[in-house]
Amino acid sequence: MPHDHDHHHDNELDPMAARVRALETILADKGLIDPAAVDAIIDTYENKVGPRNGARVVARAWDDPAYASRLAENATAAIAEIGFGGRQGEHMQAVFNTQDTHNLVVCTLCSCYPWSVLGLPPVWYKAPPYRSRAVIDPRGVLEEFGLALPASTRIRVWDSTAELRYLVVPMRPAGTAGWGEQRLAALVTRDAMIGTGQPLQPEQA
Ligand code: FE
Repeated sequence: MPHDHDHHHDNELDPMAARVRALETILADKGLIDPAAVDAIIDTYENKVGPRNGARVVARAWDDPAYASRLAENATAAIAEIGFGGRQGEHMQAVFNTQDTHNLVVCTLCSCYPWSVLGLPPVWYKAPPYRSRAVIDPRGVLEEFGLALPASTRIRVWDSTAELRYLVVPMRPAGTAGWGEQRLAALVTRDAMIGTGQPLQPEQA
C-alpha cells in the first residue's frame, strides 16, 4: 500500500545502500571496524567539513584582493591560511569566473572532489552521465542545472584528478558592496563552487 512517510524502511534500501549496510555489519561483527569511528568520519565530512568551508574561501577572495591573488597563485596555501586542508585537498587550484569565462569542474575518470573545501560530492557528480556529458556538452549540462549562459561566455571544463582538485570562484554578486565576509559567504552555494550554479543574489539570501 502506498503511504506518505519521510523515512526509509530497511527493506526499501536501494541496492547500493543495502550492500554498504551489509558490509558494515559484517566488518563490525568481525571487529575490523568500530561503528563509532565510522560515524565520526561520516559526521566530520557531512557536518564539519563541507561547502561552508569553500564559501569562506570564496567570500574572503571577494572581500580581500590580496587574498584573491594568493588564492590564484597558490590555492593550497591560501586555503590552508583559513585552516582547511588535509585529505583530498592536498593540491588545490582555484579557477575564477569572469564576464567572459565560466569554469566547470568534473572528474571524468571517477569522482575526485575537493573534500577539504566542499565536503563529500553530490551523487550526480559521481554519476556517469554528468562525468561524460560535462565535457561533451557542458553548455547543455549547465542548462539542465538551470544555468543559461550567454553564447559569448566561454565555458572552461576542468578535469579533476587524484593529484589536483579545483575550486570555482564565482563572480561576486552585484549589490553586495560593503558586505562583510560572513554575509558574503551566505551567498556562496556548493554548486557555484563546482560551476554548475551561480551564487545567490542578495535578495535570495
Ligand atoms: Fe576521480
